[in-house]
Amino acid sequence: MRSHVAVLTAVFLVVGSAGVPLAAGMPGDAVAATDSTLTSAQLTDDEIRMTTTLNRTPDRTGEITATVSFRFSERVTEFTALIPERATVVETDGFSRINGTHYEWDERTDQSSVTFRVGADRLSDDEGPLAEDGRYLFTETEEWALVQIPSIGSRWLQTGDRELDFVRETAVDGPGVAGDRMAFLGPHEIETHTAHGQTFRLVIPEAADLEAGVDDVFDSLSRASDRLRVGDRDSEVLVIAAPTDSVSWGVRGLQVGDSDMWVQDSEELDLATNVWLHEYVHTRQAFRTTDETRWLLEATGTYYGASLALEGGHVEFDRFRRVPDRGEESPQSTAVLSQPDSWENNANYLNQGESPAVHGGRESDTPRHKPRSTLIQGYPL
Ligand SMILES: [Zn+2]
Repeated sequence: MRSHVAVLTAVFLVVGSAGVPLAAGMPGDAVAATDSTLTSAQLTDDEIRMTTTLNRTPDRTGEITATVSFRFSERVTEFTALIPERATVVETDGFSRINGTHYEWDERTDQSSVTFRVGADRLSDDEGPLAEDGRYLFTETEEWALVQIPSIGSRWLQTGDRELDFVRETAVDGPGVAGDRMAFLGPHEIETHTAHGQTFRLVIPEAADLEAGVDDVFDSLSRASDRLRVGDRDSEVLVIAAPTDSVSWGVRGLQVGDSDMWVQDSEELDLATNVWLHEYVHTRQAFRTTDETRWLLEATGTYYGASLALEGGHVEFDRFRRVPDRGEESPQSTAVLSQPDSWENNANYLNQGESPAVHGGRESDTPRHKPRSTLIQGYPL
């Protein structure tokens, strides 16, 4: 008779963005396993690995195909993958359907996977600061796609009392490059530059016509990397130059996840509203916000972006000064920044009157914690 029974100790629930458990285990009936073989297994077999492989499927413009495959620790006893609602599952291997979004592992198949198609388009919302109804944040054309990586939720039961690591990675089938949250699929070149502990990867699609020089972009970003002494420096920053010849983008640039950003290929550097710097500042924001403090994201992005443009020699002081000045004009000046409903005409970008940046405060006083995993921050047109 066995001298021990491995007990299921926890249910781990991850919704929305796999890899970062939002809810810890439910300790209710947890019983710690004390068996030594289980302990040694924990040292060598302590992860769940999820690999999302993106395929542009060029014969279906407007949709990409994602194959999400899993490698499970032997400690996993049950696993459910939560597929995005808007996805259409086309194939499964080792998973069976519970309902439209929930797929359950058969607990036998080693290299199990779920393959689904999902629309590439994401449009800017029709209210709020982006306010350009029907314009694109992500899209696919006949030649290329600039997309958000589909977010897969997961839920599992495991043995052992230490939570398994959830490792999430993205690959591209065919030409393309994937960051943590966004990917470019299609022919492109990559330029890289390392400075101040950060490696910048600049993706220049074949379809893009980069207005700013590659070296100038890198100079500007590396100077900003050094000058900004707040937030956290991600070891890798993915910068995609978004082609503008055939797409009507809803924003001038966009940042998502920790350190992925795209900027329209036509964006110049010599502007106080320098989008390259603005989006870069977002990658350095490492504070958590509430409804009352959410305005800080764009206010400090705009303020630091402009001051870095000034310090980097991109603009003279009078042009820099126009950025905070616009916040003193109506209607931005009357917005109550702690009330997002009152943000008219991008007030949260322009009204920095109470910003700690303006008053010399430091963001680094706030907890060093990435505030978002899927929040999209776009620079208005
Ligand atoms: Zn922004």
